[in-house]
Amino acid sequence: MADKPASPDTSPNPEVLSMPIVPPSPDVVIVGGGVIGLSAAWQLLQDGIDAVVLDPAPGTGASHAAAGMLAPIHEAYWGESHILELNLAASRAWPAFADSLGVDTVDYRHNGMLMAAYDADDKALLDNLGDLHEQEGLPVERLRSRECRAREPLLAPGIRGGVYSPLDHQVNPRRVVAELLNRVPVVPVSAAEVAPHQVITDDGQVMACRQVVVAAGAWTGRLLGVPIRPIKGQILRLSGPEGLLRLPVRGVVRGSSVYAVPRSDGEIVVGATQEEQGFDTRVTAGGVYELLRDVLALLPGLSEIDLVETRAGLRPGAPDNAPIIGIGADGIVYATGHYRNGILTSPITATAVSALVQGHQTPLDLSPFSPSRFDARPTGRTPDPEHLSGVPA
Ligand SMILES: Cc1cc2nc3c(=O)[nH]c(=O)nc-3n(C[C@H](O)[C@H](O)[C@H](O)COP(=O)(O)OP(=O)(O)OC[C@H]3O[C@@H](n4cnc5c(N)ncnc54)[C@H](O)[C@@H]3O)c2cc1C
Repeated sequence: MADKPASPDTSPNPEVLSMPIVPPSPDVVIVGGGVIGLSAAWQLLQDGIDAVVLDPAPGTGASHAAAGMLAPIHEAYWGESHILELNLAASRAWPAFADSLGVDTVDYRHNGMLMAAYDADDKALLDNLGDLHEQEGLPVERLRSRECRAREPLLAPGIRGGVYSPLDHQVNPRRVVAELLNRVPVVPVSAAEVAPHQVITDDGQVMACRQVVVAAGAWTGRLLGVPIRPIKGQILRLSGPEGLLRLPVRGVVRGSSVYAVPRSDGEIVVGATQEEQGFDTRVTAGGVYELLRDVLALLPGLSEIDLVETRAGLRPGAPDNAPIIGIGADGIVYATGHYRNGILTSPITATAVSALVQGHQTPLDLSPFSPSRFDARPTGRTPDPEHLSGVPA
């Protein structure tokens, strides 16, 4: 006679009770809730894939500091054609992305960008960039001093000339992140360890899923063996009458770079320093001084308006300045290293991440951005200081 099946024991098992609570498994877990992780999650959700973001402090990293220039043309540098191609594709993706979030909600503005030279040496630097623009067939207008001031009357009368790019545009990154946070589920925990199909959190939870994506910005190197380092940027926010500054202006002032980006509500973002200081987010007297000195030389009329915020953020930078987007040898999807252009490249990164997760073709050739390009190299290579000098972001 067969044994009578034991009736189920419904009393709590003390071992199970002491185990961490495991939330229901989503298809995709994204580590990092900056603009990159959040836009990737939003794209996955739109594609019908269940995604969740882990971040103890979502939206407070580099994405909170960023100015929001969407500037493939003014971000073009010699020797970086593959980055230019990515940035141009990202730029083309922005109108639809802004539309999906609400153009006014995110203060997306398509009114071009002006780059101005303060003195003759600065003009020579701009002319050199102009040669690159011409070589790449980019649509720019080289302007004399008077023509620059006709477009932006706030410019100092002594400026030597400039370059206007009708293609460059801008958005308010804080509003983008806030809108994405309304649409994407975020669990406020930190990842301690990652594997292709699971994340172990700082508090010991094990989250299983079909695919892990890491988008942890400047902190990615702490989770994965890629040479991502933080590049500090100090940035200021001024506040004045709406429409005081018509256009985003980038300037080269005695060899230093500075920019001023106006928002619809009268805020003007002035940035940014580029510093190799590790994970240091202090705002320094020297940093603020340099930014104000250069922006007021270029746009003296800003001296009367309020200085309302000073801040520093950490750009995630790879040794070759290009982002890392792709599936690593470890089976994890990487979406990091967006350096000076993470706001610009967020929509195209999001589409690429969704395609990688689904095994579909990506929107562009990602081989120059593959995580494996660092496999044979030592990590933590120091950047070329010449490349960094005079480059605004
Ligand atoms: C001063 C400044 C100005 C800039 N201006 C522009 C601009 O005008 N245009 C432009 O396109 N780009 C600009 N950038 C660059 C842009 O801000 C970045 O490239 C972009 O924000 C990177 O986004 P991210 O999501 O990768 O990183 P972040 O926004 O830094 O987000 C990373 C997130 O990961 C989280 N995280 C880290 N470790 C873990 C972990 N272990 N577990 C869970 N979560 C974790 C962090 O809490 C953080 O929220 C600027 C940057 C700075 C600093």
